[in-house]
Amino acid sequence: MRLRPHHILCICNYTGRGYSKSFEENMSKIAAMLRDGGRFTAVSGADDVCAACPNNKGGTCETEEKVRRCDKAAAELLGVTPGAVYSLYELSAGAENLMSDETAHAAVCGDCEWFGLCREVINNRKIKIKK
Ligand code: SF4
Ligand code: SF4
Repeated sequence: MRLRPHHILCICNYTGRGYSKSFEENMSKIAAMLRDGGRFTAVSGADDVCAACPNNKGGTCETEEKVRRCDKAAAELLGVTPGAVYSLYELSAGAENLMSDETAHAAVCGDCEWFGLCREVINNRKIKIKK
């Protein structure tokens, strides 16, 4: 499994809604695997989430510059290095801590179209992540 750094935050907040039906099916599988203890390799570009995204144009996101900014900020704040292997459990406390501060969360990905939904999920947190 390959994951770009800002998708660690997205997986923590994912509740089944995404860019298309095929995106949602793929993301639901990935989120279930990672929340159940699966491991992933951090990557610096398109990942297994992007693989089924309609915004992925030949391996590059339509908003690549924006998402690279999100990746850079998330990687720095979570201490994630491309090429290294992690579990969601290892990073979720840091991710939750980061997103507990709306301003800090907005500094990573406040210009994302899903930001409002993510804030609702965070404010009503129920998802459990296993070791
Ligand atoms: S919007 Fe871009 S970064 Fe996000 S999943 Fe789609 S292709 Fe990947
Ligand atoms: S606001 Fe967007 S980029 Fe940020 S965690 Fe939510 S879905 Fe992911």
